[in-house]
Amino acid sequence: MSSHFPRRTALRLAGTVPAVALGSVAFADAAQAAPPTGTVRVYWLRPTDVPYDQRYPDGITAVMRESQRYYRQELGVTFTLNDPVVEVVAGDHDASWYENTPNGGDRYWWVVFNMQQELMAKLGLNAPDRRWINVGEISAEKEGVSGGGGGGGWVILSGHDADGAAGLGGDMNRWYGGMVHELGHALGLPDSTYTDGTPMSASFYSYPNCHFNDQQKNGILNGPYGDFLSSTP
Ligand SMILES: [Zn+2]
Repeated sequence: MSSHFPRRTALRLAGTVPAVALGSVAFADAAQAAPPTGTVRVYWLRPTDVPYDQRYPDGITAVMRESQRYYRQELGVTFTLNDPVVEVVAGDHDASWYENTPNGGDRYWWVVFNMQQELMAKLGLNAPDRRWINVGEISAEKEGVSGGGGGGGWVILSGHDADGAAGLGGDMNRWYGGMVHELGHALGLPDSTYTDGTPMSASFYSYPNCHFNDQQKNGILNGPYGDFLSSTP
């Protein structure tokens, strides 16, 4: 099992992010600095013991821009990114804390749920949040245990996806396909029930040779975040 292509993650992608019932506090200073609503906000959460590395915000930016291009290609409309695309968030804890602090009954989700809760508290976000689709990546992962997913207006991904975006995980198509898949969940789509050539199935591993079917296109456009997509971006 390669840490960059874990079978466990591939299988667990079949599940969407469970609902997270959390209160959130809106901080006035965070609201003032927030980008326009109706956009996709993207975060790289850097644990205290992970040195700053420009390859991460740059790489995650590239993954988001490719995903934006793909959605336009498939739907004729796409989502809007911000400037800068990626907001770098200095975490409160070291990587081990995010990996090992319990958060729900399934260790698979701990690292990304711990990230998500910190982002929500720091930035005054909700889950879901009608103001933005939120994408978080954290440079922490317990190998063979941690993973991520998407759903309810959020994508939450762990270390191997961040590394992949940064160019440290081989073929970029793996990371483009993965983001396109999870954004599909964030926009309201379920997994396909079989490998059907669409990015909502394991066919995303064949990115860019996968395409949304008509049912998925309608599901996105008529879904809870369909109004986030336009021909302008
Ligand atoms: Zn999935």
